[in-house]
Amino acid sequence: MKRDVRLAVLLLTVVYLSVAAATAWQMWSARERSLAEIDTQNLNLAQTLNTYTEGVITQSAMLLLGIVERLEEEGTGPQHMQRLQRLIDQQEHLLTQLNGIVIYGATGDWLMSSAGRLPAQANSTDRAFFAHHRDSASREPFIGPAIRSRSTGDWVITISQRFEDKDRRFGGVVVVSLGIKSFLELFGKIDVGDQGAIGLSTTGGQMLVRYPYREQDLGRDFSKSANFQRVYSGAVSGTASFKSGIDGTQRLYAFRKSDRYPVVTTVAVGKEEALSGWRHQALLTAAVVGALLLGIAVIGWRLLLDIRRRTRAEASLVAAREDLMRVNQKLEALAAQDQLTGLANRRCFDETLNMECRRASRQGTPLSLLLIDIDYFKGFNDTYGHVAGDACLQAVSKCLVQYAKRPGDLVARYGGEELAIILPGTDLQGARIVAEVVRERIEALAIAHSGSSWGCVTVSVGAATMAGPYAQGCERQLIEAADGGLYRAKASGRNRVEAP
Ligand code: GH3
Ligand code: MG
Ligand code: MG
Repeated sequence: MKRDVRLAVLLLTVVYLSVAAATAWQMWSARERSLAEIDTQNLNLAQTLNTYTEGVITQSAMLLLGIVERLEEEGTGPQHMQRLQRLIDQQEHLLTQLNGIVIYGATGDWLMSSAGRLPAQANSTDRAFFAHHRDSASREPFIGPAIRSRSTGDWVITISQRFEDKDRRFGGVVVVSLGIKSFLELFGKIDVGDQGAIGLSTTGGQMLVRYPYREQDLGRDFSKSANFQRVYSGAVSGTASFKSGIDGTQRLYAFRKSDRYPVVTTVAVGKEEALSGWRHQALLTAAVVGALLLGIAVIGWRLLLDIRRRTRAEASLVAAREDLMRVNQKLEALAAQDQLTGLANRRCFDETLNMECRRASRQGTPLSLLLIDIDYFKGFNDTYGHVAGDACLQAVSKCLVQYAKRPGDLVARYGGEELAIILPGTDLQGARIVAEVVRERIEALAIAHSGSSWGCVTVSVGAATMAGPYAQGCERQLIEAADGGLYRAKASGRNRVEAP
């Protein structure tokens, strides 16, 4: 019973654990897949925006190259400046991101501005691009940090190049400024969710543009931040997940460094937001699996109750059957027993004799029978009463049982005060010996019997034996033979054994 319950519990546990583990694994792999898809999308977007930025910078660099070439050829005289101004006016509309073009002299003075007027006493020696070109002979374009334009007041990114005078000395700087607004307009059209962000920074870690826009982020230096050190330094492109140093939001980042310019494009989406689809699906799955597990639990519980109920019923059935068998055995014993003497009764005697006859016939063994009758018993009853007669009968019976105790021997009450002993496997000689012992012992009981010539209760015994194969019904012949012996014993004076 307990084994069945244990097996059912084990089965349910295995089902539970398997379903739970499979669901957890499925959820986890779906989450990993979602994250991988988001990373791929972000990387693709970063690559696209990087191409766009490179294009804008290349256009600016070409513009710079043309102006620098003219300045170096023609110098910075007022007439040349006016001609340049006209040329720039014509080209300005070709680059929509363009905020303005300014030419600075070797001392930082403004020589020309595409906006037309020059700010009074303006000097730009303090600007990073100016210091860079003044101190470096490189003719490569320089991408400066985001600054507020002194001519338009807008936030701009500067792309600048130095030019030289006729003596190959530093002649000044030409600056193309790109409006941050135009970048923000483009970034704003891209859906990166409410928590997303798109950024453009220098490879040195200075923020050029960031969407969503916050003025205080422009020009921020991230080069010392742990995230910058860990993720951006050294790699060309990649993905990472970390908490933003700007607003503390956990995001999934993808970045792409330009192959041609020292800029990095970053695309990020809020992790919470990006995983909301997966979370919704996972909750749905968890709800369905939870309901399934609940169903299994209910069915399992009912199954266990059923097993317990059935097992209890089985146990009580077994107990009832055992009770019945005990009663039956008792009944059988009672049915085979004589009430007064406790010996086998006549029915049992008949059955046993029949069985022993057949066995002796099969096995070719001898079978003996003793018929024992109490002498003058009628007189005993008359003298001592029936109660004493019964007691005498019991005492004689007990004595017989004591001297016929081989396993196959059977002592029975044949009828009235006549008793019988079946002796299987015993020949006539053995039967005579047993009969004689029994007779002697009963006499030795010395139960007073005044009506007997011996003064005590005695018995007469008729013995008979059959040996060899018998015909069916041989038991009758055996009884008749023993009865014949008994008759002769009575006739020849009683208290003796007679056999053929
Ligand atoms: P015999 O020596 O020739 O056997 O003389 P007997 O008096 O014993 O004669 P018989 O065997 O015919 O006697 C049978 C008597 O046994 C009759 C009856 O009074 C008595 N008897 C038979 N069954 C019982 C019994 O269950 N209890 C008692 N007390 N007496 C019984
Ligand atoms: Mg008799
Ligand atoms: Mg008698």
